[in-house]
Amino acid sequence: MAHRHPTALDAEHVTHPAARRLLKAELANCAPCRARAGSEALADLEPSGVFDALLRGYALKRAQQWRTRRTRYPVTLADLAPPHELRFLGRATHEVARGCVIESRAGHKVATTDALAELRLLTDEERAAVLGDVIDGILEGEG
Ligand SMILES: [Zn+2]
Repeated sequence: MAHRHPTALDAEHVTHPAARRLLKAELANCAPCRARAGSEALADLEPSGVFDALLRGYALKRAQQWRTRRTRYPVTLADLAPPHELRFLGRATHEVARGCVIESRAGHKVATTDALAELRLLTDEERAAVLGDVIDGILEGEG
């Protein structure tokens, strides 16, 4: 049944409506909506699609958290990550993070072409694990 989750969601870097629906369903812990929106994200690996929107939101949030005064751009998300943070990421997520390129310190630009290509090479289980890491990262500090 279609219903809404009147959940407060910040996730400032995520604007895609279906991506935000998934994040709200996660915050509301609504199993049917999580399953439906999750399948939708896993099935849409196109540029500017649902998974891409989540990946960009994740990359931009982490880029702001992980940058230092010495960070040189462009930089991949994997290169930007502090070693102790990388340990929390699954292998597949680490590979995808290698494909996310943060273009500049100020900007809201992240190139995900290589990351989307990497996602297509993964198994369904690996792709679902990446989605889980990405969602956890975006929602960290929320809810
Ligand atoms: Zn629901």
